[in-house]
Amino acid sequence: MNNQSGIERLEEFRRVCREHGLRLTPQRIAIYEELLASREHPAADDIFRRVRPKYPHISFDTVYRTLLTFEQIGLIRAVEGYGEPRRFDPDLSCHHHLRCMRCNKIIDFECEAFEDIELPASIGKEFKVVHKRLVLEGLCGECQSAGT
Ligand code: ZN
Ligand code: MN
Repeated sequence: MNNQSGIERLEEFRRVCREHGLRLTPQRIAIYEELLASREHPAADDIFRRVRPKYPHISFDTVYRTLLTFEQIGLIRAVEGYGEPRRFDPDLSCHHHLRCMRCNKIIDFECEAFEDIELPASIGKEFKVVHKRLVLEGLCGECQSAGT
């Protein structure tokens, strides 16, 4: 996670919402706070279940659309998906992901060497690279000890 505190992130959140004319409703703030509090790249359903006790009338649809809106205005990032429900990441710092193929856990890691890698020149001719993000697939510690 980048070293901004939760309070700073919330201030940034308010600023970006205002900039994009997005009303700061208590529900939206609650959804963003749940994202900040989680380290496991939650799906919309996870956020929905965590926000519902406080806002029993909120619908899954509202939560999902809110997350997509947050993504569009650059507050969060949608994580590489593989047919499973889309997962979200409030951490916008440059980092990469390990994905467990068994339990779908997504774990952060950093790798500066990868960011410095020079890509084949042919890529640059046809494609403008904006981010270099790595996803490594495998088995997490828990799934390894659970046996194969
Ligand atoms: Zn696992
Ligand atoms: Mn991440």
